[in-house]
Amino acid sequence: MRILVTGGAGFIGSHLIDRLMTDGHEVICLDNFYTGRKQNVLKWIGNPYFEMIRHDITEPIRLEVDQIYHLACPASPVHYQYNAIKTVKTNVIGTLNMLGLAKRVKARIFLASTSEVYGDPEVHPQTETYWGNVNPIGIRSCYDEGKRMAETLTFDYHRSNGVDVRVVRIFNTYGPRMLPNDGRVVSNFIVQALQGKALTVYGDGSQTRSFCYVSDLVEGFLRLMNGDFIGPVNLGNPDEYTILQLAETIQRMVNPDAKVTYEPLPQDDPQKRQPDISRAKKYLNNWQPTVPLEAGLEKTIAYFRDRLEA
Ligand code: NAD
Ligand code: UDP
Repeated sequence: MRILVTGGAGFIGSHLIDRLMTDGHEVICLDNFYTGRKQNVLKWIGNPYFEMIRHDITEPIRLEVDQIYHLACPASPVHYQYNAIKTVKTNVIGTLNMLGLAKRVKARIFLASTSEVYGDPEVHPQTETYWGNVNPIGIRSCYDEGKRMAETLTFDYHRSNGVDVRVVRIFNTYGPRMLPNDGRVVSNFIVQALQGKALTVYGDGSQTRSFCYVSDLVEGFLRLMNGDFIGPVNLGNPDEYTILQLAETIQRMVNPDAKVTYEPLPQDDPQKRQPDISRAKKYLNNWQPTVPLEAGLEKTIAYFRDRLEA
């Protein structure tokens, strides 16, 4: 198949491309390199089945493809808040453009949505039937509401125009190729510990997250895209940790001498987050994560160690 991956030079997109290329597909990677890097897909450049296009999805584009994985959007709060209006445009206009493309060429389109659609959740763990608790005017809303609108558009194109869609809600995912300055918690703590700096815990560290290793996520993507269930479906690792527990784990694994400092909790930071993955198990051939936190952290730490040395 000829497959378009928007945001393909980013963290998750580049791991997805590795799988698609290895499986023998023809891949078009479309990215504006805001948080993505050519280095993430370097090994495919020059391969006749791989094509890289520098393009911003807020502008229309004409391509002929069979499937679209639509991932383009900055994912770290630091990056999506840097230009909040651009984040809304990417989620709304960008998703409209990709849905229009899917409609024109009759491609199946997969939307990378997020656990952020649940906001600061009052239901725990979060099931797909929960409608969420999102502040519509806060500093996270460009992303949260942007993704909610992207989901709305996707389901309306499905209902009104018969577009073949798949929607995944991704929970916190980590692994090699995150940016050292990404700003998300796993990369921050690892880079800080490697550099002998203090690990910056926001708030008292009692807020929770559930961390999924990127290869588990990509496996779930392929099952959803190539199955019959349209979603939305949660993909994430249900093992839940407080942020302080994560800091202590990384401290122990990288640098027991690294200190922990406490900084103010950002506005609207969700207190807890854990996916209910019953739907994924039921519809995605018993999908569940296989990589435990420490095993995934080992690989991620090794990546950052190499990258910082380079
Ligand atoms: P990332 O920032 O590494 O990747 C995003 C990619 O999109 C980058 O390569 C960036 O350059 C590109 N991009 C951004 N705006 C663009 C635009 N207007 N036009 C073209 N390209 C653009 O982030 P990631 O962690 O790989 O996230 C990928 C997707 O998964 C995003 O849609 C994100 O919202 C979603 N997601 C990720 C997580 C996670 O924990 N990593 C959680 C929930 C959802
Ligand atoms: N966090 C932290 N220190 C950091 C970066 C993040 O304590 O250096 C916290 C953040 O406040 C949040 C959690 O870690 O409670 C996860 O943050 P991240 O930005 O990785 O993802 P999100 O909040 O979008 O789930």
